[in-house]
Amino acid sequence: MNQYESELMIEMLENADYIVIPETDINADIYIINSCAVTGEAERKVRQTIRHIRKENPDSKIILTGCYTQIPRESSEYETLGVDLVLGNSEKKSIVKFLNENGIYSKIDYWREDDISYEMVKDSIAERSRAFIKVEDGCNNGCTYCVIRSLRGTRIRSKPIEVVIKEAEQLITKKHKELVITGLNLGKYGKDIGTNLAKLLNEVSKINGDFRIRLSSINPEDLDDELINIILENDKICNHLHIPIQSGSTSVLKRMGRNYTADYLLGLVEKLRAADPLFSITTDIMVGFPGESEQEFQETIDLVSKLEFSKVHAFRFSERPGTRAAQMDRKVPGNVKKDRVEMLISHSQNVANAYKRKLVGKTTTVLVEGVMNGIYIGYDEYYIPHETNGGIIGDFVKTVILSVTAEGVVSKVAKKQVSND
Ligand code: SF4
Repeated sequence: MNQYESELMIEMLENADYIVIPETDINADIYIINSCAVTGEAERKVRQTIRHIRKENPDSKIILTGCYTQIPRESSEYETLGVDLVLGNSEKKSIVKFLNENGIYSKIDYWREDDISYEMVKDSIAERSRAFIKVEDGCNNGCTYCVIRSLRGTRIRSKPIEVVIKEAEQLITKKHKELVITGLNLGKYGKDIGTNLAKLLNEVSKINGDFRIRLSSINPEDLDDELINIILENDKICNHLHIPIQSGSTSVLKRMGRNYTADYLLGLVEKLRAADPLFSITTDIMVGFPGESEQEFQETIDLVSKLEFSKVHAFRFSERPGTRAAQMDRKVPGNVKKDRVEMLISHSQNVANAYKRKLVGKTTTVLVEGVMNGIYIGYDEYYIPHETNGGIIGDFVKTVILSVTAEGVVSKVAKKQVSND
């Protein structure tokens, strides 16, 4: 979501004749930080970034936007950090109006629940081959640990299908070969406008051109048969899903306010792998949720083995302000959380390697994103990173997988190339 919204700001600034320079270049006049607040660690990194800029370039102006600013804070915190302007999530859409030739206007405004306007990008500057399309914002789920829902709004706001199609067509014209469909609660797309994600995907897939579609992240309970069928049957949609399960323990899931059980997850993955035994599933798992016992943690470890994830993003629970989980007792001590996250990372690596070994000898389609020292890099349809020996940057290449590395796989270009059209 933030990546998409950063692209949007870049596009608007360039259209207004500002020069956008790489974030590694410390000589900017104005910095715009599009922040995250999903965990305490994410917030710490925001503060660290601001301090770094202030130290390296004291005369620059700093604008802070994103979820960090949506959490109510004392204005003295921003002053101490050295932020010149604080903007909410909604203001990203009109970033240019906060700038002038002298720097920035000092206007503080925040996101409003009634703001249902939507944005569109025409190109993706940061990524040459892949492009994000945000189709939905807002979330009406009730996860007890989540602060983001209250920062981005609890009402589902979907972009009309015809607008998504127009945006997708523009991005395909600009030679983006992978469209990543994204939203805060993507599975709820369309509930407010009388449609759904399956119908949207069906329409996007009908656009002419050599491209593929990937979903950014989808909650397990939203994967109904209509959606599963279109994902499995439509060749343009990647056989990869990022399903954030959060825990493998049904009792922990209940306390988290997640609307599914471990058994439901087993059934769901079984359906996907019945159609494609290599169907790739990546996930997010939070450890150390209040009250998480050794037994419950073990249930998560066991489920990770059973679901054979191709990648797990494991992280520690952190208390977010104003959430129900922050009020829960039976807190898990920091050292236990640290041990569990390390254990889960190591276990997940073994599980992912086992998954990748099943791919050895198979032919997959890599979208080449770069080349370094003669090694071509990119992701295939299963979202596995490849190091391969040829191809054209920004284009697809069929490869045969040779071996597994810690990060991904090594492959070679297949002799016979078959078009994706
Ligand atoms: S699904 Fe849960 S974690 Fe995700 S945004 Fe909604 S409430 Fe937050």
